Amino acid sequence: MSTNNKGILVIISGFSGAGKGTLVHELMTRYENEYALSISATTRNPRFGEQEGVHYFYKSRQEFEDMISQDAFLEYAQYVNNYYGTPKQYVLDRMEEGKNVLLEIEMQGAMKVKKNFPDTQLIFVSAPSAAELYNRLAGRGTEEPEVIAKRMQRAYEEAQDMDRYEYLLINDNLDESVTLLHEIITNEKNHETAKNEPYLMQNHIPFVDNMRKELKSFLKGE
Ligand code: 5GP
Repeated sequence: MSTNNKGILVIISGFSGAGKGTLVHELMTRYENEYALSISATTRNPRFGEQEGVHYFYKSRQEFEDMISQDAFLEYAQYVNNYYGTPKQYVLDRMEEGKNVLLEIEMQGAMKVKKNFPDTQLIFVSAPSAAELYNRLAGRGTEEPEVIAKRMQRAYEEAQDMDRYEYLLINDNLDESVTLLHEIITNEKNHETAKNEPYLMQNHIPFVDNMRKELKSFLKGE
Protein backbone atom coordinates (compact mmCIF):
# COMPACT_ATOMS: atom_id res chain seq x y z
CA MET A 1 0.00 0.00 0.00
CA SER A 2 1.43 3.43 -0.90
CA THR A 3 2.25 5.92 1.83
CA ASN A 4 -0.57 8.17 0.55
CA ASN A 5 -3.16 5.66 1.67
CA LYS A 6 -1.93 5.63 5.22
CA GLY A 7 -4.45 6.57 7.83
CA ILE A 8 -3.97 9.57 10.09
CA LEU A 9 -3.56 9.63 13.85
CA VAL A 10 -6.26 11.56 15.70
CA ILE A 11 -6.33 12.31 19.40
CA ILE A 12 -9.64 12.97 21.06
CA SER A 13 -9.22 14.55 24.46
CA GLY A 14 -11.60 16.52 26.58
CA PHE A 15 -13.00 17.05 30.02
CA SER A 16 -14.04 13.90 31.79
CA GLY A 17 -17.81 13.88 31.31
CA ALA A 18 -17.76 15.76 27.99
CA GLY A 19 -19.03 12.66 26.21
CA LYS A 20 -15.85 11.63 24.34
CA GLY A 21 -16.45 7.93 24.89
CA THR A 22 -19.96 7.92 23.44
CA LEU A 23 -18.87 10.14 20.57
CA VAL A 24 -16.00 7.86 19.60
CA HIS A 25 -18.13 4.73 19.99
CA GLU A 26 -20.78 6.22 17.69
CA LEU A 27 -18.17 7.28 15.13
CA MET A 28 -16.75 3.74 15.07
CA THR A 29 -20.23 2.26 14.64
CA ARG A 30 -21.22 4.56 11.79
CA TYR A 31 -17.98 4.44 9.83
CA GLU A 32 -16.41 1.20 10.99
CA ASN A 33 -14.35 0.63 7.82
CA GLU A 34 -12.52 3.92 8.11
CA TYR A 35 -11.43 3.95 11.72
CA ALA A 36 -9.58 1.90 14.29
CA LEU A 37 -9.84 2.67 17.98
CA SER A 38 -6.79 2.16 20.12
CA ILE A 39 -7.61 0.35 23.35
CA SER A 40 -5.53 1.63 26.24
CA ALA A 41 -4.03 -0.19 29.17
CA THR A 42 -4.86 1.16 32.64
CA THR A 43 -4.29 0.38 36.30
CA ARG A 44 -7.72 1.73 37.34
CA ASN A 45 -10.46 -0.72 38.26
CA PRO A 46 -13.17 -1.52 35.70
CA ARG A 47 -16.36 0.51 36.12
CA PHE A 48 -19.65 -1.36 36.18
CA GLY A 49 -20.29 -2.78 32.71
CA GLU A 50 -16.77 -2.27 31.41
CA GLN A 51 -15.03 -5.21 29.77
CA GLU A 52 -11.42 -6.34 29.45
CA GLY A 53 -10.15 -5.74 25.91
CA VAL A 54 -13.21 -3.67 24.97
CA HIS A 55 -12.92 -0.57 27.13
CA TYR A 56 -9.39 -1.10 28.45
CA PHE A 57 -6.80 -3.75 29.12
CA TYR A 58 -6.79 -3.77 32.94
CA LYS A 59 -3.31 -4.15 34.43
CA SER A 60 -1.72 -4.24 37.85
CA ARG A 61 0.86 -1.54 38.57
CA GLN A 62 3.59 -4.14 38.20
CA GLU A 63 2.30 -5.34 34.82
CA PHE A 64 1.99 -1.75 33.62
CA GLU A 65 5.52 -0.90 34.72
CA ASP A 66 6.84 -4.01 32.94
CA MET A 67 5.20 -2.78 29.72
CA ILE A 68 6.88 0.61 30.23
CA SER A 69 10.29 -1.03 30.48
CA GLN A 70 9.57 -3.11 27.36
CA ASP A 71 8.88 0.15 25.45
CA ALA A 72 5.42 -1.16 24.58
CA PHE A 73 3.69 2.24 24.80
CA LEU A 74 3.33 5.03 22.27
CA GLU A 75 2.76 7.21 25.34
CA TYR A 76 1.56 6.81 28.90
CA ALA A 77 0.57 9.16 31.69
CA GLN A 78 -0.71 9.25 35.24
CA TYR A 79 -4.22 10.59 35.69
CA VAL A 80 -5.97 10.84 39.09
CA ASN A 81 -3.66 8.24 40.74
CA ASN A 82 -3.67 5.69 37.93
CA TYR A 83 -1.54 4.88 34.90
CA TYR A 84 -3.05 5.00 31.41
CA GLY A 85 -1.10 4.09 28.24
CA THR A 86 -1.48 3.50 24.49
CA PRO A 87 -0.05 0.19 23.23
CA LYS A 88 2.24 1.11 20.32
CA GLN A 89 2.18 -1.71 17.77
CA TYR A 90 -1.58 -1.78 17.22
CA VAL A 91 -1.64 1.91 16.33
CA LEU A 92 1.23 1.71 13.84
CA ASP A 93 -0.20 -1.40 12.14
CA ARG A 94 -3.70 0.04 11.67
CA MET A 95 -2.36 3.31 10.21
CA GLU A 96 -0.28 1.28 7.77
CA GLU A 97 -3.53 -0.48 6.69
CA GLY A 98 -5.07 2.90 5.87
CA LYS A 99 -7.31 3.30 8.91
CA ASN A 100 -7.56 6.58 10.77
CA VAL A 101 -6.57 5.67 14.29
CA LEU A 102 -8.39 7.29 17.19
CA LEU A 103 -6.74 7.72 20.58
CA GLU A 104 -9.07 8.81 23.36
CA ILE A 105 -6.43 10.01 25.80
CA GLU A 106 -5.77 12.85 28.21
CA MET A 107 -3.67 15.91 27.65
CA GLN A 108 -0.20 14.93 28.90
CA GLY A 109 -0.25 11.85 26.66
CA ALA A 110 -1.61 13.90 23.74
CA MET A 111 1.33 16.31 23.96
CA LYS A 112 3.83 13.43 24.05
CA VAL A 113 2.32 11.87 20.91
CA LYS A 114 2.21 15.24 19.12
CA LYS A 115 5.90 15.74 19.86
CA ASN A 116 6.85 12.34 18.42
CA PHE A 117 4.33 12.42 15.54
CA PRO A 118 3.77 16.07 14.57
CA ASP A 119 1.10 15.20 11.96
CA THR A 120 -1.23 13.99 14.70
CA GLN A 121 -4.49 15.94 14.81
CA LEU A 122 -5.58 17.08 18.27
CA ILE A 123 -9.29 17.49 18.87
CA PHE A 124 -10.63 18.74 22.21
CA VAL A 125 -14.19 17.86 23.23
CA SER A 126 -16.00 20.10 25.69
CA ALA A 127 -19.46 20.17 27.22
CA PRO A 128 -21.29 23.45 26.47
CA SER A 129 -20.69 24.72 30.04
CA ALA A 130 -19.09 23.82 33.39
CA ALA A 131 -22.51 23.24 34.98
CA GLU A 132 -23.43 20.81 32.22
CA LEU A 133 -20.11 19.02 32.71
CA TYR A 134 -20.82 18.55 36.41
CA ASN A 135 -24.36 17.31 35.69
CA ARG A 136 -23.05 14.71 33.26
CA LEU A 137 -20.36 13.50 35.69
CA ALA A 138 -22.75 13.30 38.63
CA GLY A 139 -25.47 11.78 36.42
CA ARG A 140 -23.28 8.78 35.55
CA GLY A 141 -23.79 7.61 39.12
CA THR A 142 -20.64 5.47 38.92
CA GLU A 143 -18.21 7.71 40.77
CA GLU A 144 -17.72 8.75 44.38
CA PRO A 145 -18.22 12.49 45.12
CA GLU A 146 -14.48 12.89 45.84
CA VAL A 147 -13.62 11.45 42.42
CA ILE A 148 -16.11 13.81 40.76
CA ALA A 149 -14.51 16.72 42.64
CA LYS A 150 -11.05 15.62 41.46
CA ARG A 151 -12.26 15.38 37.88
CA MET A 152 -13.74 18.90 38.06
CA GLN A 153 -10.41 20.11 39.44
CA ARG A 154 -8.62 18.34 36.62
CA ALA A 155 -11.04 19.93 34.11
CA TYR A 156 -10.05 23.34 35.46
CA GLU A 157 -6.37 22.48 34.98
CA GLU A 158 -6.99 21.11 31.47
CA ALA A 159 -8.93 24.25 30.53
CA GLN A 160 -5.69 26.20 31.03
CA ASP A 161 -4.08 24.22 28.18
CA MET A 162 -6.99 23.27 25.95
CA ASP A 163 -5.95 25.95 23.44
CA ARG A 164 -2.94 23.77 22.54
CA TYR A 165 -5.36 21.60 20.56
CA GLU A 166 -6.02 22.23 16.87
CA TYR A 167 -9.78 21.74 16.97
CA LEU A 168 -12.62 22.36 19.41
CA LEU A 169 -15.78 20.29 19.37
CA ILE A 170 -18.56 21.49 21.67
CA ASN A 171 -20.57 18.35 22.29
CA ASP A 172 -24.14 19.53 22.71
CA ASN A 173 -25.97 17.16 20.39
CA LEU A 174 -24.43 13.71 19.93
CA ASP A 175 -25.68 13.13 16.41
CA GLU A 176 -24.37 16.45 15.10
CA SER A 177 -21.08 16.04 16.94
CA VAL A 178 -20.43 12.64 15.34
CA THR A 179 -21.06 14.06 11.86
CA LEU A 180 -18.78 16.99 12.60
CA LEU A 181 -16.01 14.83 13.99
CA HIS A 182 -16.07 12.62 10.90
CA GLU A 183 -16.01 15.71 8.67
CA ILE A 184 -13.00 17.23 10.45
CA ILE A 185 -11.00 13.99 10.26
CA THR A 186 -11.93 13.27 6.64
CA ASN A 187 -10.94 16.79 5.57
CA GLU A 188 -7.61 16.34 7.32
CA LYS A 189 -7.00 13.00 5.68
CA ASN A 190 -7.82 14.46 2.25
CA HIS A 191 -5.61 17.52 2.85
CA GLU A 192 -8.66 19.81 2.63
CA THR A 193 -7.91 21.56 5.88
CA ALA A 194 -9.31 24.94 4.77
CA LYS A 195 -12.80 23.42 5.12
CA ASN A 196 -12.11 22.91 8.83
CA GLU A 197 -11.62 26.60 9.55
CA PRO A 198 -14.84 27.03 11.61
CA TYR A 199 -13.72 24.38 14.07
CA LEU A 200 -10.20 25.62 14.69
CA MET A 201 -9.51 26.24 18.37
CA GLN A 202 -8.02 29.63 17.55
CA ASN A 203 -11.47 30.77 16.38
CA HIS A 204 -13.09 29.88 19.72
CA ILE A 205 -10.97 31.71 22.25
CA PRO A 206 -13.99 33.51 23.85
CA PHE A 207 -15.54 30.10 24.59
CA VAL A 208 -12.26 28.89 26.11
CA ASP A 209 -11.97 32.00 28.30
CA ASN A 210 -15.51 31.61 29.47
CA MET A 211 -15.06 27.91 30.30
CA ARG A 212 -11.98 28.78 32.38
CA LYS A 213 -13.97 31.40 34.31
CA GLU A 214 -16.93 29.08 34.89
CA LEU A 215 -14.75 26.19 36.10
CA LYS A 216 -12.88 28.51 38.44
CA SER A 217 -16.05 29.83 40.08
CA PHE A 218 -17.40 26.29 40.22
CA LEU A 219 -14.37 25.12 42.21
CA LYS A 220 -14.68 28.07 44.56
CA GLY A 221 -18.24 26.86 45.21
CA GLU A 222 -19.92 29.95 43.75
P1 5GP B 1 -11.38 7.15 32.55
O1 5GP B 1 -10.87 6.69 33.88
O2 5GP B 1 -12.51 8.15 32.70
O3 5GP B 1 -11.72 6.01 31.62
O4 5GP B 1 -10.17 7.94 31.83
C1 5GP B 1 -9.55 9.00 32.48
C2 5GP B 1 -8.73 9.80 31.49
O5 5GP B 1 -7.65 9.01 30.98
C3 5GP B 1 -9.53 10.26 30.27
O6 5GP B 1 -9.20 11.64 30.04
C4 5GP B 1 -9.03 9.38 29.16
O7 5GP B 1 -9.13 10.02 27.90
C5 5GP B 1 -7.58 9.19 29.57
N1 5GP B 1 -6.95 8.03 28.95
C6 5GP B 1 -7.50 6.85 28.61
N2 5GP B 1 -6.59 6.06 28.04
C7 5GP B 1 -5.42 6.75 28.00
C8 5GP B 1 -4.09 6.46 27.50
O8 5GP B 1 -3.80 5.41 26.94
N3 5GP B 1 -3.16 7.43 27.66
C9 5GP B 1 -3.43 8.62 28.25
N4 5GP B 1 -2.44 9.51 28.32
N5 5GP B 1 -4.66 8.93 28.71
C10 5GP B 1 -5.64 8.01 28.60
